[in-house]
Amino acid sequence: MLSGKEYFESIRDGRRVYIGKELVNDVTSHPAFAKGAESIAMIYDRKAAPENRDVMVSEEDGEEFSTYFLKPQSRDDLEKRYETHRRIAAWTHGFMGRSPDNFPSYLTGLATQPDLFNEMREGAGNNLDAYYRKARREDLFLSHAVTNPQGSRRAGGEMEEAGIVSPTLRVVAEDDEGVTINGLKMIGTGSIYCHETWVGNLQPVSPGQEAETITAAAPLNAEGVSIWSRKPYEATANSEFDMPLSARYDETDAAILFENVKVPWERVFLHNNVLMTREIYFRTPGHSLANHQANIRFAEKLRLIVAMAHKLTESNKAGAIPAVQSTLGNLAAQLAALDGMIRGQLLDCEDMPGGYKTVNRRFMYATLHWCTNNHSAICDIVRELMGGGPIQMPADSTVMEDAELNKKFETYWSLPDQSAKDRMKLFRLAWDILGTEFAGRHALYEKFYAGPGFVMDLYSYQLAGWDELDTIVDDLMAGYDL
Ligand SMILES: Cc1cc2nc3c(=O)[nH]c(=O)nc-3n(C[C@H](O)[C@H](O)[C@H](O)COP(=O)(O)OP(=O)(O)OC[C@H]3O[C@@H](n4cnc5c(N)ncnc54)[C@H](O)[C@@H]3O)c2cc1C
Repeated sequence: MLSGKEYFESIRDGRRVYIGKELVNDVTSHPAFAKGAESIAMIYDRKAAPENRDVMVSEEDGEEFSTYFLKPQSRDDLEKRYETHRRIAAWTHGFMGRSPDNFPSYLTGLATQPDLFNEMREGAGNNLDAYYRKARREDLFLSHAVTNPQGSRRAGGEMEEAGIVSPTLRVVAEDDEGVTINGLKMIGTGSIYCHETWVGNLQPVSPGQEAETITAAAPLNAEGVSIWSRKPYEATANSEFDMPLSARYDETDAAILFENVKVPWERVFLHNNVLMTREIYFRTPGHSLANHQANIRFAEKLRLIVAMAHKLTESNKAGAIPAVQSTLGNLAAQLAALDGMIRGQLLDCEDMPGGYKTVNRRFMYATLHWCTNNHSAICDIVRELMGGGPIQMPADSTVMEDAELNKKFETYWSLPDQSAKDRMKLFRLAWDILGTEFAGRHALYEKFYAGPGFVMDLYSYQLAGWDELDTIVDDLMAGYDL
């Protein structure tokens, strides 16, 4: 297992990351990414620390590995995974969604069924098993880019008819050694900090677009791979005091461009299969285990949001008002309901092929649906509870560097029970949760990281058990007549 220091050194590997026109060669020392990399290193160190080992380190045949690589065979295994995810999420208050335990949960779920892959292509399941073991042994941090560039999906056929090459990642050549891939994949959240990325499709691919179904893994420093960052928020965070979350927990998002990248067959898990490129995540526990992690991660973020609501109303003295207490009670009830929804996934866990288990999928997708649909509304309630407090503060903490200004700041901005500095610190954190560009990215993240809203509805539609529900109406109506 990697220590934080070893992780840090391992990503100084010549990867090509672009911020606009700037090429970043070492993300661990660049002002846009260094603190984010430290946060990931912190996760590596803490998960192996003595107080966490019992839960967060598992063992098979004498080999120790992070518990998020544990293939669950019992409810106890699922509980162990749950507690691992919960601790990791708590360490960044749920602001690093694609933490090192996210994609391995997909991979672990996929690797419970190598035969499914072997049936599609000889040896593909064995390759998957070997890749899972490598990732587990080397404690790899993996991202996944399983979305195609926006607009190009629907326009695919039209673009080809017009003679325009689609930008979507596809296989452009293959030989005895492997495939050559070319094109873009979206959005590799965390990729800037990861060792490798998985590419594939969580959205349907149309017949005729077989070359785009490629499902494979590639190191992020491979020849021909470049990582195109969105605007990094860490770079614009003027200080930890002023923007504590932007400064430390910007997990990064990036488009990943592959320009004629050679991928050996050992790292190709699916090829030329329109139906299964998406189905693999649902026929195995891959999607459910990974999104269970996402549910747990969201709960830790909501815990901070609700805690902040309470602190803000203590600070602005609105907390004693019954109407405000009612609003706080409403938030507390939502947090408790979410905790219950997640615990229920473990209580009613499900059997999967090969003697494995996964969390209750109907409950998990309902939780995903709930989080996606409620995050913005909850943030809006807390923003309203905050009043105009953040805007009443001076521009930034430099005001306290000037002795004379600081004296005036403490004289006029303090309250009998709160220094001006403490009030500013609270409002700066609240604004980073609810108002900054970092916060805006999180609003988008919570809506889209697991796919668009209508897909969330479809997951629950598919798992509703309509036959059983219909029977309730049929039985009721059978009990009376004219
Ligand atoms: C911050 C962030 C991080 C992300 N991280 C990752 C990641 O790590 N890995 C990854 O693979 N992907 C990631 N994604 C990508 C994410 O999966 C996609 O954004 C998502 O699938 C939506 O696709 P799109 O953005 O292309 O939107 P579009 O598909 O273009 O949708 C645009 C809008 O149209 C609506 N719409 C489209 N079609 C329909 C329809 N048929 N019915 C009703 N409404 C429709 C959508 O609901 C949406 O509101 C991330 C996205 C964000 C914002």
